[in-house]
Amino acid sequence: MRIIREFATPLILSTLNKNLHFVTFVYYKIMKKVFILGSTGSIGVNTLNVIRNIADRFEVTALTANSNTDLLLAQVNEFKPSVVAVKEEYAAEKIKDLLPQGCKLYTGSEGLLSAASESDYDIFVGSMVGFAGLAPTIEAIKRGKRIALANKETLVVAGELITALCKDKCAEIIPVDSEHSAIYQCLVGESINEVEKLILTASGGPFLNKDKSFFEKATVDEALNHPNWKMGNKVTIDSATMMNKGLEVIEAHWLFGLPTEKIDVVIHPQSIIHSMVQFHDGSVKAQMGLPDMKLPIQYALTYPERLESDIERMNMPEIGTLSFFEPDLEKFECLKLAFDALQTGGTAPCVLNAANEIAVEKFLNREIKFSHIPVLIEKALRTMGNHVSPDLDTIFDCDKRTREFVKSL
Ligand code: MG
Repeated sequence: MRIIREFATPLILSTLNKNLHFVTFVYYKIMKKVFILGSTGSIGVNTLNVIRNIADRFEVTALTANSNTDLLLAQVNEFKPSVVAVKEEYAAEKIKDLLPQGCKLYTGSEGLLSAASESDYDIFVGSMVGFAGLAPTIEAIKRGKRIALANKETLVVAGELITALCKDKCAEIIPVDSEHSAIYQCLVGESINEVEKLILTASGGPFLNKDKSFFEKATVDEALNHPNWKMGNKVTIDSATMMNKGLEVIEAHWLFGLPTEKIDVVIHPQSIIHSMVQFHDGSVKAQMGLPDMKLPIQYALTYPERLESDIERMNMPEIGTLSFFEPDLEKFECLKLAFDALQTGGTAPCVLNAANEIAVEKFLNREIKFSHIPVLIEKALRTMGNHVSPDLDTIFDCDKRTREFVKSL
């Protein structure tokens, strides 16, 4: 008997008995355990959609949510995680007696941290929106896990500390944000030293063709009406102000280690090219596809493999034309503020992010006009001061103080 082993994934162990002319194949499926931080949000739901289609490769071991317990409970019943964490105590109270036997419940912000630091998983999907995603993500990094990162704020506010911690703990970040996933895919097999620039594409959001004067009267519903992507409210407003692209520039800086002057933004209204890399021989690589977050999510879960998927294929003749424009930084002031904050460094990106989160919340609550979002952020950046080399405590303190300041305006 001869044993042939192939160290591909899935591992195939083939035994061959020549005398009996008999061949058996034994498949060892490598199941990866997945922790989803923010499973009821847009990225969380799409992550579960992806896993549902490749269920023989991934097992959901932990789900966390803020307060949407109806959806969380449905997810728990389908995916049967052994750990559940709910941030809001009142919501945790609602489901505590409805969880299946043996499913451990953590509650509160501390509970999210404990779930990330104690439960069993290989891949941490950071799909929670906002600064609140930072602390649990740090717990996963400390354990050297793969981080499928959708929460851009983690790198925006603490990029220097996070990248150093990842290096120290051998944790890898695979980006889920479609632009960064595109760049990551373009860089496979390439050297970062041969990159001339990264070109992040931006749809321009719902107000691309409106005059700046329109921002005075833009409504919440108009700002939430994104032409290409279906996302959560916060990201959709950020897309309308183009702060989303600004945060992504900062995220790209830390993910790929390139300076601000090597990161360009180009408006591409069709959202077919998700981003590009220009190399120093003049060649440009682009990653394309229909706008569907399931693709970058699946890539972050399965990298370096590409598994089959039923994601809709693009039809180039049907798309017809791809167009590109310079972004108008005078009109989209938030994008300019983000470039400036990255250039300033220190706690400036943390102030930018905290002020933006509160300003967007105020706009969504109809307390301020759309045009006031950059005004509040600029005030915060001018007022809060800057720490050049902040540690984590300084960042948490800066975030808290900035929120209080912008709430008071
Ligand atoms: Mg994006």
